[in-house]
Amino acid sequence: MKFKPANNIQDLQYFGEFGGVNPSISDSSTYTFISAKTMQDTFEGNTDGCYLYSRHTTPSNLYLSQALAAMEGTESANVTASGMGAITPVILQLCGAGDHVVSSRTIYGGTYAFLKNFTPRLNITTSFVDITKLDIVEAAITPNTKVLYCESVSNPLLEVADIEGLAKLAKKHNLKLVVDNTFSPLSVSPAVLGADIVIHSLTKFINGSSDTVGGVVCGTQEFIDSLKSVNDGACMLLGSTMDSLRAASVLKNLRTLHIRMQQHSYNATFLAEKFQGLGIKTVYPGLASHPSHELFKTMMNEKYGFGGMLTIDAGSLEKANALMELMQEKNLGYLAVSLGFYKTLFSAPGSSTSSEIPEDEQKEMGLSNGLIRFSIGLDADIERTFDIMKACMLEVGVLQTEMA
Ligand code: PLP
Repeated sequence: MKFKPANNIQDLQYFGEFGGVNPSISDSSTYTFISAKTMQDTFEGNTDGCYLYSRHTTPSNLYLSQALAAMEGTESANVTASGMGAITPVILQLCGAGDHVVSSRTIYGGTYAFLKNFTPRLNITTSFVDITKLDIVEAAITPNTKVLYCESVSNPLLEVADIEGLAKLAKKHNLKLVVDNTFSPLSVSPAVLGADIVIHSLTKFINGSSDTVGGVVCGTQEFIDSLKSVNDGACMLLGSTMDSLRAASVLKNLRTLHIRMQQHSYNATFLAEKFQGLGIKTVYPGLASHPSHELFKTMMNEKYGFGGMLTIDAGSLEKANALMELMQEKNLGYLAVSLGFYKTLFSAPGSSTSSEIPEDEQKEMGLSNGLIRFSIGLDADIERTFDIMKACMLEVGVLQTEMA
């Protein structure tokens, strides 16, 4: 039977303590115990259902974690204070001094910086590879490799990872496949395709209102328990815990994710087809011209489409900047990083979210100066949006009259 992530969220039933239709928020940093013995047992990890201290977890965090585990089809999950607060403990839980990571070379700039500049201090090294070439990925694996890391749809180039192929490699070499699914919630279910651990920055589509940062790690009960261990759990000890008030608000937003993703995907598909039709270099997994379009189709939960992210090449950084400023002036969206908002957001990754990646490496991976990354919003009238965007493109010279 086909995996139905939105049904899994919808089917969860929570009541608040006083019969409220939303679960009550646990507004406490610490919890009482009736008996001292139970407190001791809880610290030793022997008592289920007891809460000790909110850095470990809270009832509110568990509600959100349970919904996200249901969405990804994993046994368990743990919500964190940000996406980076999910990624960094996962790497540090899985790797120690002398260990090695094989990572996609096109990943979010913060994750790249962590693996490239920070973890070598702990003698954890990373090889960055073209994740779309399984033979190159396999060739980079060494006896010390512990983790295979990628994004389902990569930031910012929208490369698509062959999760089933990577999962086979991970099994063969006894590695953990860690997939950041931030760009494709509901559309792609990496754990169902064989990933061991799925991460999201909740900051983006899942929360969808650009009012907080947040993250989640989804995985087996054993792995999630290990992250929260009071003795050696990276989430517990590094302290990237989500606050209960936030967990409650993200849970409320999660309930409309399926409707939002459908609209993001519809609008992005409309614009991508129109831009391509105008002769503008456009990258969107939903276009037949995307090198991994067919692969994406085999992986996707169809109903949610190809997602809300697309890129165009404006030709130069100057033209990209002029276009973004004009589009903002015309109220088509905001010149801002991040994604998943109701308004369209646009930025030039080479000089913003991927600026951690050195220029020569940007060039090698195909990240051009004029690249604009769009997170397409929930616009009610996408035809009107397109007409105004086209006029902006003509005005700044991204589009020539003869192309239009
Ligand atoms: N993963 C991806 C794909 C991202 O785009 C981002 C942020 O842009 C992150 C992780 C980091 O998430 P956060 O900003 O919530 O720490």
